[in-house]
Amino acid sequence: MTSKESQSAKFIDLHGHHSSSKSEDRDFLYIYSYSPKINDLPEEGQFFSAGVHPWEIEDARTSFEEVKRLCGDSNCLMVGEAGLDRSIVDDSDLRQQEEVFKWHIQLANELKKPLIIHNVKCLSEIFRLHKQFPNHSNWVLHDFNGSLSDIQECQKRSIAMSLGPRFYESQTARIAHTISDHKIDLNLIFFETDERGDINIQTIYEKFAQKQEIEIDDLKDRIWQNLKALLGTNLTS
Ligand SMILES: [Zn+2]
Repeated sequence: MTSKESQSAKFIDLHGHHSSSKSEDRDFLYIYSYSPKINDLPEEGQFFSAGVHPWEIEDARTSFEEVKRLCGDSNCLMVGEAGLDRSIVDDSDLRQQEEVFKWHIQLANELKKPLIIHNVKCLSEIFRLHKQFPNHSNWVLHDFNGSLSDIQECQKRSIAMSLGPRFYESQTARIAHTISDHKIDLNLIFFETDERGDINIQTIYEKFAQKQEIEIDDLKDRIWQNLKALLGTNLTS
C-alpha cells in the first residue's frame, strides 16, 4: 500500500468560491474554484481549480491565458469551472460560450486533470461535446440537479455529479430521492458548497447519509474513493 492509499478519508468540498479556513482542517479537503474577474486568486498552498466562467467570457483570451498558467500549478486539482449557461444568453452567444468551453476541454486533456463543468439547461450540448472529444479527462458536472435519465446518461459516460446546497435545502430534495429510490450507485457522486460559505460540507454529507440510510463514515469513505478515482495521481494530501 502506498502512502497515498493509506490516507484516511476526509470530507470533500469539491467546489466552492469562498475562501475557507476549513481547508486547513485535517478532516476536510476543499477545492476553491477560481474564475478571473469573479473571484480572488487562490491563497498560497490552497487546493483549487481555475477556469473562465461562462458568465465572464468577455475578453476570454486574456482570462484563459491566466487560467492556463494557474492550471499548471500542482495545487490546481481540476480545470474549470467552465461550461455552458443558456439562462444568460441567446443562441449566438451560446456558440461563443461553447468555443471557450472547448479550450478548457482541451486544456484538461493536455494536463490530464479533471474538468469541472457549469451547466444551465445545456446538458445535451455537454453530452454531445463529451462524445465529440475522444480520450477526454474525467468530467464532473457541478451543482448537478438532473433527472433519472440524466443520471443514467452520466453513468453511461462516467461523468461525475457534484451535488450542491440546492439538493439539501430544497423541500423536495428531488435529486436525493431519485438516487435512493433508484438505488443509484454512488461511485460518481460528490458534494460541494459552491457559493455557500455559510454551510459546512459535513452537514451536507449528514443529510445525504440520512436520506440514503447509510452510515456517515461509509459515505465519507465512498466519496473519498471517488476522489481518488477522479484525480488519480494528482491527489497528494
Ligand atoms: Zn461555482
